[in-house]
Amino acid sequence: MRYLRRNLLEEIEPNFIIFVPTLLWMWFNWETITTLKPWLNIMKFLSKHMSRTFVLTAALLAGCSPVAMDATVQTTDAKQAEAVKIGDTYKTDISVLKKQPTILAAFKTIESHREQNNLDMIELNEIPAPPFGEATRAKRVAEMFREVGLTDVKIDDVGNVVGMRKGRSGTKTVALGAHIDTVFPIETDVTVKREGDTYIAPGIGDNTRGLIVLLSLIKALETHNIQTEHDLMFVGNVGEEGLGDLRGIKHLYRDGAQTIDSFIAVDGGSDHRLVYGGVGSYRYRVTFKGPGGHSWGNFGDANPHHALARASTLFAERAKPVSSEGPKTSFNIGRIGGGTSINSIPFESWMEVDMRSGNVEKLDEMDAVFKQAMEDGLTAENAARTSGGEITVDVKKVGDRPVANGDANSALVQQAMAAIGSFDLDPTLSISSTDANIPISKGLPAITISRGGKSAGAHSFKETWTDTDSHRAIQIALLITLAQAEYAGPRD
Ligand SMILES: [Zn+2]
Repeated sequence: MRYLRRNLLEEIEPNFIIFVPTLLWMWFNWETITTLKPWLNIMKFLSKHMSRTFVLTAALLAGCSPVAMDATVQTTDAKQAEAVKIGDTYKTDISVLKKQPTILAAFKTIESHREQNNLDMIELNEIPAPPFGEATRAKRVAEMFREVGLTDVKIDDVGNVVGMRKGRSGTKTVALGAHIDTVFPIETDVTVKREGDTYIAPGIGDNTRGLIVLLSLIKALETHNIQTEHDLMFVGNVGEEGLGDLRGIKHLYRDGAQTIDSFIAVDGGSDHRLVYGGVGSYRYRVTFKGPGGHSWGNFGDANPHHALARASTLFAERAKPVSSEGPKTSFNIGRIGGGTSINSIPFESWMEVDMRSGNVEKLDEMDAVFKQAMEDGLTAENAARTSGGEITVDVKKVGDRPVANGDANSALVQQAMAAIGSFDLDPTLSISSTDANIPISKGLPAITISRGGKSAGAHSFKETWTDTDSHRAIQIALLITLAQAEYAGPRD
């Protein structure tokens, strides 16, 4: 609660700089204002019935309340942005990079990719890539990686596409990744419609466009023979969405895998936003099971749907106090199913549940509340039955994304902030649930950056991506890559 109030004040302060002088000016010019034409009638009424003090105090309070409401929503971002400054050395490094003729030429080349990028985006988006069904799109991504000049392109054991671009010494490996998968089932129509600069299709922004950022960046490096000190690894990874449970990235960071020293995921909406920490999540599939039977003939037996309803009501009631205090913690029942017909007691009832937090204690607290509610719902339904045997519940964990505490002062985060800032954007640190969770949770440098343009309606059938200043995100990505992998001039 205390930290919330502090942020509230931090948020209000800048607004006061404009608001308070305006009110003061109004105080001293009250006679003039009350006779001004557009105000005349309202002001006549106000000045007749209320004092100047009352009206301006009311205006002051009214002016504060929306700002204050907004502040509570933005607490995390505001708190972090306030605390973290970009180090001067990082600012200097980025501005030196940005003045290199080769890099300026690469920036121009990126701008020239616009039309081809959009054609590639349409082509890739129209290859369905549902969770656990990414293989066809992966094959095409692998071809494209080869076409733009990557070496050692392969599809690994879990389906990730991995390609390399060797550095001068190759002492470290900097990886850039964009997820291939979408949330949409295989039968979804993924045909891209276009209205002006807006592209409409499920998955178009999240994350087909992310893959395009990788391709355009690689082409710019190749066109200008840009050399890096360290090796670059490019990844089109599987399993970011839904029940994929980050299996692509988990595989890249498995024991015994090739070392990745830092990871840059391209999967963000706005150019100024920088994900440097991870929201953790637990996901469950809960199944209540019983013998089932006839709705009339077996009436009185325990009913799995009724048990699920009891359990989910208990969960929602008990989860609310957990989520309404301290760091943001969410809970959601996303899917429910089961049953054979309206006049049958179902033999099973299932649901899928997701809970998230940036704080591991809160996440575990929610987890405990959830498990207890499932048990209590089952007990209540079994106790309410008047015939038949007991039903059971199976609570299966289907997702576990670790909470990841990022370091805002690490070189990678600082370089990214400096790169974003060099485009006159105000870098905003945030935490989210992305591929970067895995490395960050292992204490390894990782961030998630923007795919550029304007994304809207992610995870919906009406998802759109609009091509406005979309080259900028690729240029930012290039700068971060060259800062992190150490620019070593043009190749001979
Ligand atoms: Zn995504």
